[in-house]
Amino acid sequence: MIEINRKICDRCGCCVAVCEADCISVFEALIEIDNSKCTSCNKCVWICPLDALAMNNFTNLDKTD
Ligand code: SF4
Ligand code: SF4
Repeated sequence: MIEINRKICDRCGCCVAVCEADCISVFEALIEIDNSKCTSCNKCVWICPLDALAMNNFTNLDKTD
């Protein structure tokens, strides 16, 4: 699953553009990821200019804030 560091993210939208699974939504003051649709391609992690996204395969650690 993808984790978001919302303290770092500036909601630039770069990750939305590369996500072929269409699971990232960025609003004016909010970013959300639907991990149920995520294919773990890692493209969003690579494209984020602020390193605000990380892949976490330990799904029992659901820390998205
Ligand atoms: S690319 Fe990074 S900084 Fe930009 S909206 Fe996505 S998570 Fe936030
Ligand atoms: S890892 Fe891939 S499928 Fe999952 S949110 Fe990021 S870009 Fe989308």
